Amino acid sequence: MFSRLYVHVPFCVKKCNYCAFVSNTPRENELAEYPDLLLQEVRLRASAVEPVASIYFGGGTPSLLQPYQLARLLEGIAATVEIRSDAEITLEANPGTVDLISLKAFLDAGINRISLGVQSFDDHFLDCLGRIHTAAESRRAFDEVRAARFGNVSLDLIHSLPGQSLDQWRTELRHAVALSPEHISIYGLTVEDGTLFAHRYPVDSPDLADDDLSADMFELADELLTAAGFEHYEIANYARPGCRARHNSGYWQRDGYLGLGVAAHSFLREGYGVRFCNPGTVMEYRQGVVSGQLARVDTEYLTLDAAMAEYMFLGLRMADGVDLHAFEREFGRSPETRYGSAIADLVRLGLLTRKGSTLLLTLRGMLLSNQVFARFL
Ligand code: SF4
Repeated sequence: MFSRLYVHVPFCVKKCNYCAFVSNTPRENELAEYPDLLLQEVRLRASAVEPVASIYFGGGTPSLLQPYQLARLLEGIAATVEIRSDAEITLEANPGTVDLISLKAFLDAGINRISLGVQSFDDHFLDCLGRIHTAAESRRAFDEVRAARFGNVSLDLIHSLPGQSLDQWRTELRHAVALSPEHISIYGLTVEDGTLFAHRYPVDSPDLADDDLSADMFELADELLTAAGFEHYEIANYARPGCRARHNSGYWQRDGYLGLGVAAHSFLREGYGVRFCNPGTVMEYRQGVVSGQLARVDTEYLTLDAAMAEYMFLGLRMADGVDLHAFEREFGRSPETRYGSAIADLVRLGLLTRKGSTLLLTLRGMLLSNQVFARFL
């Protein structure tokens, strides 16, 4: 079953230079017709939806939807499936696409959390990334988010940008803290194939941060943000007490979620779990929805072994770690039985630590998380 909804809006004003997400500039009518397609999809999949604990509008740039479109969409969803009264409903907003009037209207439509894609407070880096907004526009957008009375706001920042120094990164973090959001997500730049960055910055480019500098930036974020009262509750996420992202936490806890829209991924809690995604183009998606035969693409029925591995590496992403008893209740065997030597090695290397019945990543383990997770595959 699904207890969370992810809604993918695959449209952007223009493609950013580093972006490998499924997003494009909308063609004529695509943005206008999209909410209706989403609603038709909800109706197709509604029978597998439990009372919804969270909805996340991501993209792409979901803030390109007009507030009235989003209001109608949320009304339509609520008329089709049950949304819990305390549901967290997040809208990703690009600072270049919102103003006080639209933000107030988004709040009235039912959005209760904004995730603002700031990425950097330095115009040089924003230009390098190909973002459509300046740092001043991000600050204005943040002020307007507050003026619209959103009490739960997250900022995204990226480190290890081409040519970025540790001091510049420190300044970025200080700007973010000064705005006093409830939540901050921090990502290290990865140069993805097929992006403009992949041409501009080959792997051996001297402009890219090396592993040591990236590690220093990761550790500096931990140091500054925890000193400022944020809890480092997941590898890439920091929150004021009580302000963790509930929707994203659901991903790491393996809650079932239904992905609506072009290329949206879903996780069905059935058996050991089923992962699948929607068709990757607007045309294929439209055809599937309109015909009532929306294909599941890349369907993966998890085996017991795959589900146990997922439980470990998703659970370890969170500072709460993996409760060994909970694992045993879920799978009928202990993690030590299945991963004994891997766990012992990782503890010896200082990447994992044990507190009572909980297994946790150390800060160094968070930094080298891909190497840790590979041991559970
Ligand atoms: S706004 Fe986000 S999704 Fe759109 S192109 Fe830029 S990084 Fe990609």
